[in-house]
Order: sequence, then structure tokens, then C-alpha cells
Amino acid sequence: MSLTCTILIPGRVDEYGRGLRVGQEYTGPDDLVKSMHFAKVAEIKGFPYSTDNSLEAHLSEHAALGMSTGAAVPTGWFDILPYWDLTNVSGDTAAGLTTSVDYNVTFAGRPTIRIDVPAGTSGAKALLGTSAATAYIPNPWDLKNLCVAVRCTNTAIFPSLSQTIGDATLANRWNKDKTKEGHPDGYSFPNRNNEWCFLKCGSATAPAAIAVTAGSPVVANRMRAKFATTLTSSASNESIWIGFFGILPSRKKPTVIVSMDDGYLTWYDFIRPLAKYYNIPVSMSIAGGILGTGNKMSIAQARELAADSSRLFDFNNHSYSHLYLVAGKEAEQINDFMLNVSFMRDTLGVIGDGPLHMIYPGGVTSLAQYAQAKTAGFLTGRKNQPCWMHGQDQTLASGEDDGRFVQNVVAVLDSTTTIGDVKTAVDGIETRNEVGILEGHNSASASAVDTWSRQNYEELFADLATRRDAGTVEVKSISRWYADLTGRPCYQL
Ligand SMILES: [Zn+2]
Repeated sequence: MSLTCTILIPGRVDEYGRGLRVGQEYTGPDDLVKSMHFAKVAEIKGFPYSTDNSLEAHLSEHAALGMSTGAAVPTGWFDILPYWDLTNVSGDTAAGLTTSVDYNVTFAGRPTIRIDVPAGTSGAKALLGTSAATAYIPNPWDLKNLCVAVRCTNTAIFPSLSQTIGDATLANRWNKDKTKEGHPDGYSFPNRNNEWCFLKCGSATAPAAIAVTAGSPVVANRMRAKFATTLTSSASNESIWIGFFGILPSRKKPTVIVSMDDGYLTWYDFIRPLAKYYNIPVSMSIAGGILGTGNKMSIAQARELAADSSRLFDFNNHSYSHLYLVAGKEAEQINDFMLNVSFMRDTLGVIGDGPLHMIYPGGVTSLAQYAQAKTAGFLTGRKNQPCWMHGQDQTLASGEDDGRFVQNVVAVLDSTTTIGDVKTAVDGIETRNEVGILEGHNSASASAVDTWSRQNYEELFADLATRRDAGTVEVKSISRWYADLTGRPCYQL
């Protein structure tokens, strides 16, 4: 399949690496042309740009083209208490609480179950549940990937959700009382009113099976299920919404992402041929303002790497000035990231989503910054902690899980880690079947601060290629991973 476009910005190449001139009419592979159109590098004939400056302009044109606008959400989870069977799934709801299907407050494009809590209600209450073995259970089920999406007008009214699944009388049962813990960086996403929160059955670093708490429960297609909580009295009427209570589908394959920061000259000299030999995509975060200084690439070298015909080098956004976030000055930093979007598009010629993926300078973030990043149209963010919950990315693409702004970094490539440590970290990605990031900076003959030895990189890339060729992992760029998750067009590997 091919599409025809008019080139708007110089510096791009066609699928054979030949230069494209401004004003030229170019007919090429769908993916490439759509990707250039999406990045405002070219206009597909008949689909001119709107004039607003939003990062994701002309969504309606995209829809008309049959291009995804981020709506391909993986909603293939298995509902234990589905909204379309409300009478059944609210059979055990405590007296005084009212349940209804809410077609206005949606989750991932689906109606939700709303539970109205009158002012002054307190104490242990079943929020939702069947009164017999009539809840839906996938069979077989390994007792993992249990997840609840919940939101509330006032999150202070409940501390946790106690989830119980068992036989008709619950004499044989599993239970997990899941608290609203936040990301290990200390930000408690779940305590924001009117935002979705995801309670996944596991810790920050590993998944967990729901535990047996009585008898010997056996998985069956129909079982009794409920969730309960201890309500704290509120002076106002409050509402709790359940987006879904169920089992997330397994990820298809463990995913490894190599993500490097700051634009070092060693990327151009050493990483480029190494990555191309082993065919390993590398996500490279660029701070436009520091290119050409010290031991960094020049603008011309960065431009060349971004346009490399291997499509292995995904350029991500590290802010223009490498600006650390100062508490309360989120807008200033978002503006610096936006400035870098323009620099990467106009000066480096970067096409695709790369500049919409943020790498926070110094890993410094705030809850307010995630909210502003979302509003500005950025897609994901990376700092530097492991978080298994966000490495289970089946909810990230819903657009409602702010965990996409705190990706799962499982290893840092510098003098604090050996090649053995990093291989063990990749083993963990495989074991947990998650998406995990390896975060690097510079390379040299020996490891040091923000520097990993060249031999380590050689061994790592060889190891990743071996695992990929054996079919045990996939190795992707950040842009490709997120595009595959959401159905966005993407030219990077
Ligand atoms: Zn940096």
C-alpha cells in the first residue's frame, strides 16, 4: 500500500534513504507517509493541517484517513463483576448504598458501575458482589493479574478495597485487601479525587497471586465475588465508580527498552554501529540546548542519527535546556519540553512520536507535572525507579492510568551495575512478563559515573539479540512500544 504526500520540511529521506525536497510530491509506504504526516513533516494529499498549535492537531483528519488517534485501548480484560449484569453483581451490596450503571462517567470508553454513598455512612460495607456463585471467572486462571479500576469523589472515605472470590458460601475463598499505594517514587496517584486509580494485585517490584484465606478454593467459571471496604463518614454524599473489576490479559511477550540520555558523542561513534550490528533499537533522549557542548554530539550528528535508515534510533524529549523541575514551576518545565518538541521537529527533523515521550532531567517529577504533561499532549514519561505495576502496561494505554508518566526502569547502566546485574534485571523482565527499561548515558573504556564500559554494552547488546532471536523477549524503542500498545502509527523499530 502507498500514500502520496507533499513534503513541508527539509531533511527527510524516503524508504531508500534518498533526500526529499520541500514541495516535492512523494509516494511511499503507508507507515512512512502517515508517520511524516502525523509529525507535520508532510501533508497527505487532501488532508491539510488545521492551524491550531496543539501537539495532536487535526485528529478528525486522522480519523478520516483511518489512522488511529490513540483509541486502540487493550480492553480485553475479563470482567468478574461486569456492569451489564448489574442486578446480579450488586446482589451483596450493603443496605443504604445505591448502585447504577453510569453511561456518562466512562472508563476506557465503557460504561461504569456507580455506587452512591449517602453523607454520614461509615463502617465495614460490601460495595459490590454477588450473593451466590454467579460472578464470572476465567478458567483456567493462575490467580494473577487481578485488577480494579476505581475512582471516587472523595478518596478519603476508603483506605483500601478488600477483594474476595470463592465458592457460593465463601467458605473456601481467596482474599486480598489492596491498599491505595502509590508509585515507589512516593507520589500517591490513588489519592486524587475523580481520577482513576488502579489496584493491581502485587507489590512495586513483583506480581502476586491472590492468597487463600479460607478452605481450598478451586477455580470455576462461576464463583462468588465481592469487594468491601471500611467507609469513613463524609459530610457530603459521595460516589465511587468501578471501571472494571477483573483479570488483565497477559502481555504477549516480555519487552526490553534501552533508553539513553543526554546526547553523547559516543552514541554517534560507538553505539550506532553496535546497535546496527545486533539490530537493537535504542531510545535516545535529547536536550536540544546542550547538543554541541562538551562531550555531546553536534546538531548535524544528531540529525544524521535521527534519520538513520536503520530506524533504530528513537529520539525522545529530555527538555530543551535539561531543566530540572523546581516544585511549583511545572508550567516552566512543560514549556521547555514543548520548546524541545519544536527543536526536534524543525532542526533535527525527527518524525513520529519520539518527542512526545518525556525523559525527566534528573528524574525529578511531581503529580502536578504528570497532570500538565497529560494536558499538553505528551504520551509517556520516564524517571528512574522500578515499578512492576506500570510494567504491566495493559491499562497504560487507556489514557486514564497516569502510570504511563512513570515507566518501569529496572536497571541503570553505570559504575553501580555489572553486566551480570543487568542480565539478572532482564531475567526479571522475562519472569514477570513486563515492559522494563534499561537506563544508560555515556560509554568509555571503563565504567564511571553516568558511564558504562564499552565491553558491558557489547555484552548487553549481544545478550539482548540472543534472547530476541530465541523468542523470549522483544526489544523495542519507547515510541514503538507505546504505538503497539495504543495502535498509533510508528516508523521506529
Ligand atoms: Zn540528563
